[in-house]
Amino acid sequence: MSHDGQGSAETRIAQGLHFIDAETGAVVPPVQSSTTFARDRDYQLISAEHSYGRDENPSYRAAEGMLVELEGAADALLFSSGMAAAMAVIQALEPGDRIVAPHVMYWGLREWLTEFCQQWGLVLDPYDAADPDALATTVAAGDTAIVWIETPSNPTWDIIDIAAAASLAHEAGARLVVDCTVATPVLTRPLQLGADIVMHSATKYLNGHGDVVAGALATAADDDFWQRIRSVRSHGGAILGAFEAWLLQRGMRTLFLRVRRASETAARIATALDGHPAVQTVLYPGLDSHPGHEIALRQMDGGFGGMLSLRVKGGANAALAVASRCNVFIRATSLGGVESLIEHRYSIEGPASPIPEDLLRLSIGIETAEDLLADLEGALA
Ligand code: PLP
Repeated sequence: MSHDGQGSAETRIAQGLHFIDAETGAVVPPVQSSTTFARDRDYQLISAEHSYGRDENPSYRAAEGMLVELEGAADALLFSSGMAAAMAVIQALEPGDRIVAPHVMYWGLREWLTEFCQQWGLVLDPYDAADPDALATTVAAGDTAIVWIETPSNPTWDIIDIAAAASLAHEAGARLVVDCTVATPVLTRPLQLGADIVMHSATKYLNGHGDVVAGALATAADDDFWQRIRSVRSHGGAILGAFEAWLLQRGMRTLFLRVRRASETAARIATALDGHPAVQTVLYPGLDSHPGHEIALRQMDGGFGGMLSLRVKGGANAALAVASRCNVFIRATSLGGVESLIEHRYSIEGPASPIPEDLLRLSIGIETAEDLLADLEGALA
């Protein structure tokens, strides 16, 4: 299998790293469904990397290789979900270790972290991602093993300065982990800004077609901590199916096209609805008025992403009424697919949620900007 292509990351990703099957000349990798791998007559594995399907599968190579390329990483691992990828990082820690994580972040992870840290003797200290000084103060309050950031953070799209967070973490002897699901490596490459590990819910933009649940980690260093993470995956078995890994590599080939298109349309919608009489605030890091805009300009390259939120005048009922009047946007959870989705996060997260009740989260797909904008303007009218 040839991985010797040339050109920019965009070119190499579109070609699946210039994949050509050495045996057949196929330009698309095969799906390898075998759960076990044979040994020769001297009892040596025929392929040293492959022994049993819970450790490794040849079908992971394509997507993991693309992630290494996209992130400029030393290594990458696929997982059965974004949550499984995040959990593997936390399960690689030791009892008593302290994690510093934002108040507002992907809520499923926040909920699990809170529970797991209590049960397993880890310390979890939250910080306010919207306050530029909060991270430094929280890190300084004790020994820290992991600084967790999510940028832009779901669903308020606060921006955290990755390079500054990396310096803070390293000065404190901690590792910086960045959930970069929303920015994708097309717009932000955290390892190049000093982060140690980058995490993705590959269910979202990396796959991009709403048909695979997957997660991924990429690391700056193949060190002992990374080997512990690898061991969590192979012993715990939070592995991706071979066909899902294959679908993921197929989705990733169009990542640049999809992310650029979604970012352009999201910027257009954010600008058009900023100041709309029915909208109190548009939350989008591409707007000058967004508190994280200056940092976003520095660390996001080529766009501000396809996610934005509207805070609708009139509270929860007004927001729900807008969602119910949409005909093009689909009322559903998740993000980063080719189809645009609208979601009232508070209804999903419940009364304990820190998310404002008037907030509608929009995941912009690849439909025409005119159709999406007309749908929103009609629903807001
Ligand atoms: N991180 C972010 C920012 C997410 O939006 C999500 C899911 O919505 C996750 C992590 C969890 O990923 P998954 O649903 O693939 O387990």
